[in-house]
Amino acid sequence: AEGEPIRSTCAYCGVGCGVLLTPGAEGLSVAGDPDHPANHGRLCSKGAALAETVGHADRLLHPQVDGIETGWDRALDHVAERFRQTLREHGPDSVAFYVSGQMLTEDYYVANKLMKGFIGSANIDTNSRLCMASTVAGHRRAFGTDTVPGTYEDLEEADLVVLVGSNLAWCHPVLCQRLAAAKAARPGLRVVNIDPRRTPTCDLADLHLPVAPGEDVALFNGLLAAIDARGATDAAYLAHVEGLDAALDTARADDPARTGLDASLLERFYGLWCRTEKVVTVFSQGVNQSTSGTDKVNAILNCHLATGRIGRPGMGPFSVTGQPNAMGGREVGGLANMLACHLELEDPVARAAVRDFWDAPRMPERPGRKAVELFRGVESGAIRALWIINTNPAVSMPEADRVRDAIAACPFTVVSDITARTDTARLAHVLLPAAAWGEKDGTVTNSDRTISRQRAALSAPGTARPDWAILAGVGQRMGWVRAFDYDGPAEIFREHATLSGVAARLGRDFDISALSDISDAGYAALSPVRWPVTATRTGGRFFGDGRFFTPSGKGRMVPVSARAPASVASADYPFRFNTGRIRDQWHTMTRSGVSPRLSRHLAEPFLEIHPDDATRLGLAPAGLADVTSPHGACVLRVLVTDRVRRGEVFAPIHWTAETAPSGRVDALVAAEVDPVSGQPESKASVVSVAPF
Ligand code: SF4
Repeated sequence: AEGEPIRSTCAYCGVGCGVLLTPGAEGLSVAGDPDHPANHGRLCSKGAALAETVGHADRLLHPQVDGIETGWDRALDHVAERFRQTLREHGPDSVAFYVSGQMLTEDYYVANKLMKGFIGSANIDTNSRLCMASTVAGHRRAFGTDTVPGTYEDLEEADLVVLVGSNLAWCHPVLCQRLAAAKAARPGLRVVNIDPRRTPTCDLADLHLPVAPGEDVALFNGLLAAIDARGATDAAYLAHVEGLDAALDTARADDPARTGLDASLLERFYGLWCRTEKVVTVFSQGVNQSTSGTDKVNAILNCHLATGRIGRPGMGPFSVTGQPNAMGGREVGGLANMLACHLELEDPVARAAVRDFWDAPRMPERPGRKAVELFRGVESGAIRALWIINTNPAVSMPEADRVRDAIAACPFTVVSDITARTDTARLAHVLLPAAAWGEKDGTVTNSDRTISRQRAALSAPGTARPDWAILAGVGQRMGWVRAFDYDGPAEIFREHATLSGVAARLGRDFDISALSDISDAGYAALSPVRWPVTATRTGGRFFGDGRFFTPSGKGRMVPVSARAPASVASADYPFRFNTGRIRDQWHTMTRSGVSPRLSRHLAEPFLEIHPDDATRLGLAPAGLADVTSPHGACVLRVLVTDRVRRGEVFAPIHWTAETAPSGRVDALVAAEVDPVSGQPESKASVVSVAPF
């Protein structure tokens, strides 16, 4: 009804909070949605400031080709012609898309279909590769598919919540608020925080384990050995699991002393874990962003599989994702090594099913280039036409200077974004103005599998368009008129839901086939719903019944061994360099940087360094430090604090060439990747520090 607020979903993190949007003469107002299952009305500082970020200053209003404003027809004709020409001359793998967990599921679906089914390459990867690719790989190894077993309610129902590599208080604040409220109501709920830094999340913790950087595998292998030694395995559940003996052998071979933790601290943690049945292990970027990220994930999953503490209320491993739609991207197959709907790219039966469904002229048989490899391909000239959508890799990729230079030298680069003022947009040959959050319609999936609508409350400025429409326009101009003839996001959603039914018949978990024939009105009114959504089931947990998606139907414990981070400290680069987010900024600040309120929290890039190191180096508090790695250099404000340990420093990731020219910290990060997931090790590079 007129005047009723419009229900939508927050633009930022993977908690996926519901928001109520009310446009008015004074501008947009934003409130938490009391009926949304993720947040029940709560918002964090970023969500509460969304209304301050929807202005039109700095928006990209019209397409530009070689710096000259033009109309959509000319711009899309040009993009299609250049992609066609590159395909003709250099083949499908000379073209690549680098997309984003900021895209809506419908946008993502069309991008993936265009690249994998029609261009015929799997060279589509996403900034989710920097976020949770190791979790995807770990889930697939253990479960046979990329399934989050549990729900947010499990954190509230647990008796022990273990946070690993997760500054939940700043990075997933509303989930942290829910956990804090549960703990206040039930003080027996214990929280353990495993993190090299003493972050604000420690305020909630009963126990902090400052694990040595990268040594989570040793910590959880020690736990698995302790579970076995104390008789805490679940023999009945283990009938549904394979690999216990091999996983135990490798676990026992690792020395928990690698963690750098006191034996008494380890004993407290292991004892608490073993005697508490209702355990949830929440893990995030400290686990994922590592050259042993996939093994870390499996070390955690092994402990839950061995004890059967999975898929039941208050129990299970739980990955919290960084971005609003990291999960939706995974569901449509937006990673270079996945097909749609959790189908396997390397599986010929799955490929044939998707090809038939799309009536696609060609399908790649091999995975494409993952993010770091993708930009290496741009650098080497193997990739000659690149489309970057809603993300800023010239700032956010490891070895960011090298990535920036590679993009600058690419023969043809298209950037779709809401503004031309990003470091990446400045390098584009073609700029395409995208509709922003609050102006477009679609769905996102949050960290606990809840699909929510994002809805438009504002009109897009200039001639900005939704991403699905831009992608479909190029697809049609490349000659695939019928395949990309969509009249709106509801039609794309129905196609995606129908394809999920095909995937379910091939034994996959992601099944929303009951929504295949949702009407436009039904889609417009769609309430948040946790998948699966089938004729017989909505939502719930996975694996409590011991049924997995592996060929044998059993869960798999994976033998893993601890490995140190790839970069080795030396006399030249003696400090371990950790990176992460701050509470009130988001990614490269395209949106959050617009809000003066958010910028007041921490206004400039900084380096956390231990007081003893600062004294030794002659660094004054609030002075400036030169921070140098083999890959780049920064000048950062010195923040002297014992939140970090001696020999370790931390810097936030958000600043760009425009907002702080000397503060692009990903320029320092080594592009070392996990061998299974391809995810870069963003938290354990090495640097030198000196007074500026
Ligand atoms: Fe938005 Fe995440 Fe904050 Fe919720 S917790 S309001 S989704 S940034």
